[in-house]
Amino acid sequence: MSNTPKTTEIVVATGNPHKVEEIREILAAMGVRVLALTDVGVADIPEPEEDGVTFEQNARIKATQYARAINRMVLADDSGLAVDALGGAPGVFSARWSGLGVTREERDNANNEKLLTELASISVGQRGARFVCAMCLAAADGKVVAETIGEFHGSIGMAARGLNGFGYDPLFVVDDSGRRSAELTSAEKNERSHRGAATRAMANVLATLHSVS
Ligand code: IMP
Repeated sequence: MSNTPKTTEIVVATGNPHKVEEIREILAAMGVRVLALTDVGVADIPEPEEDGVTFEQNARIKATQYARAINRMVLADDSGLAVDALGGAPGVFSARWSGLGVTREERDNANNEKLLTELASISVGQRGARFVCAMCLAAADGKVVAETIGEFHGSIGMAARGLNGFGYDPLFVVDDSGRRSAELTSAEKNERSHRGAATRAMANVLATLHSVS
């Protein structure tokens, strides 16, 4: 029996096109057709309330509710930044942490400014942080098929740099040379990121499901 999965269609339940691209880059290589909500004409479905206290809970809420609403297999990711000096904040509140901004870009800029302000008195060696990504795959009937998690360890720089990615990428230092996540190509980011790790783990689960079906 082959380990090569049959082509599967999965809808990624997010309004963030960067997330869709990062996930597509990995899953498309194994023959999975990754669709955005806009591709299946349901971008206007009301977003479920993300009232979980963990990334895992929120990913499960999004995957199961969207799957039932659109009757398709849905993959959802809930992710965020946990900063050591802030006791793990902003965590599940990462997306709207500052409470400012209307567009995603405005919110990201305001969040990054808040992060710099909160860490203003914290020295370079004490600025450790990690991105976390919890993923949940739900079948069309809303049943959970698989859950995975990935982490990306780094630190928070003293100033924003780089134009790629989204969110906190311009402040997230990924190596000793001070390179920011926003200075990585999408392939480089995927190789080391929380979302890349969670997606590859999901790809392994999908391959297993297909090889026994
Ligand atoms: P979610 O869409 O509710 O999962 O919120 C995720 C938030 O966490 C984003 O809006 C970003 O602020 C942050 N975040 C998650 N993943 C990344 C990443 O890969 N780069 C930068 N910021 C991220």
